[in-house]
Amino acid sequence: MSGKIKHTPTNEVHVLRADGKTGCGCDPRKNSSHWIKVGSGSKVTCDKNGCK
Ligand SMILES: [Zn+2]
Repeated sequence: MSGKIKHTPTNEVHVLRADGKTGCGCDPRKNSSHWIKVGSGSKVTCDKNGCK
């Protein structure tokens, strides 16, 4: 399942890949309290390769 996920300490929205990592290669499962799933209509604000 893929979608979008927000890193709450930075307020950045990232792409969430089917493998569970963000498009830019972070693993939200390592600090799951820092990440919340957001709706597909949310704008991706991460500008790293893989998310933008
Ligand atoms: Zn990202």
